[in-house]
Amino acid sequence: MLVRASEGYLSFPMGPAATTIMNFSAGPAMLPPSVMDRVAAELRDYRGTRMSVLEMSHRSVEFEEIIRGTEATLRRLLDLGDDWSILFLQGGASLQFSQVPMNFLEDSLPPAAYAITGEWGRKALAAARIIGEADAIWDGGPEYRSTPHSLEIEEAAYLHVTTNETIHGPQYPQEIWSSDHVPTIADASSDFLSRPIEVSRYAMIYAGAQKNLGPAGLTLALIRRDLLDRGRAISPMLDYRTHDKAGSLYNTPPCFSIWVTGMVLEWIEAQGLTGLGEANTAKADLVYNALDASPELYSVHPEPRSRSLMNVVFRLRTPELEAQLLLEGREKGMVELKGHRSIGGLRASLYNAVPTSHAQALADLLGDFARRHG
Ligand SMILES: *Cc1c(COP(=O)(O)O)cnc(C)c1O
Repeated sequence: MLVRASEGYLSFPMGPAATTIMNFSAGPAMLPPSVMDRVAAELRDYRGTRMSVLEMSHRSVEFEEIIRGTEATLRRLLDLGDDWSILFLQGGASLQFSQVPMNFLEDSLPPAAYAITGEWGRKALAAARIIGEADAIWDGGPEYRSTPHSLEIEEAAYLHVTTNETIHGPQYPQEIWSSDHVPTIADASSDFLSRPIEVSRYAMIYAGAQKNLGPAGLTLALIRRDLLDRGRAISPMLDYRTHDKAGSLYNTPPCFSIWVTGMVLEWIEAQGLTGLGEANTAKADLVYNALDASPELYSVHPEPRSRSLMNVVFRLRTPELEAQLLLEGREKGMVELKGHRSIGGLRASLYNAVPTSHAQALADLLGDFARRHG
């Protein structure tokens, strides 16, 4: 069996218990099996058109229905009114690191304020500083184990936060910002729609789809209209207002990703954000409890109050034990548990689509491994 591991493609013997792959990838990541079944069933013939969404004009009636339907599902999920624009963009969250300051960081405004809780926030700040003035008002580096208790900003062009830091693993336990005085812009790439969210605390939320929402290639941006109107005149593809006016059909959008994301959003809607949040908390508890039970062997990277429900980042006592655990995991069908190359260790991503049974299997392995090596 050929399975992709973090270091390329490698084949390995599957143990007798490994009948399913348990994919703990940080992104692109596991999608709901029911959605994958629908994609497979409709891939060659989209609702009797005898064409695939992969082959369809983005100006067709069918695709128009797909993109407006995806938008409508998201509006229902978050109860978003006409005062919010929903954009389907490309370039990943990484392009947003530049596009946000290009649109909203004007010389006439005070500097933008960035709270840095990990690698992604650091990159966002670096990109903003090429465009204009931006300050790190809080910085948890270089270890990035925590999140601030409060973020009080008197004035700034905007406040930028990363709700969940995918590489180091700190997640804000709750929303500690508002958009009453300074508009808050959030990179929510790795925890958007994983639990209830108070949209009124934000002026803009963006997220790459491939962590929790769908296939790679699509970036969702939700922008409050009063912020959108503040935008500067810049090149059309980078100007949010271009895409707003065109209903995200200014140029060819990532059609396939929008289609699949629409189905994932319906799947999220069927469970409800509250139910999903509870399920995600239960999954993370299983894994963290197993790690906490053997502190002589395991150490969790973030401090307890900022532990991510999405990305469990941890180390073992020695690199040799880490390699051994990865190997034993693979034999049971658990893949993509290797930590990000920048910090090493292990990382288990437990996004919405990862079932409780996979988190339980990982917790069981962690407990069993500690009994043998603790
Ligand atoms: C993955 C990720 C990014 C980068 O996303 P790309 O789509 O690869 O550009 C940015 N921010 C966060 C929080 C992420 O998890």
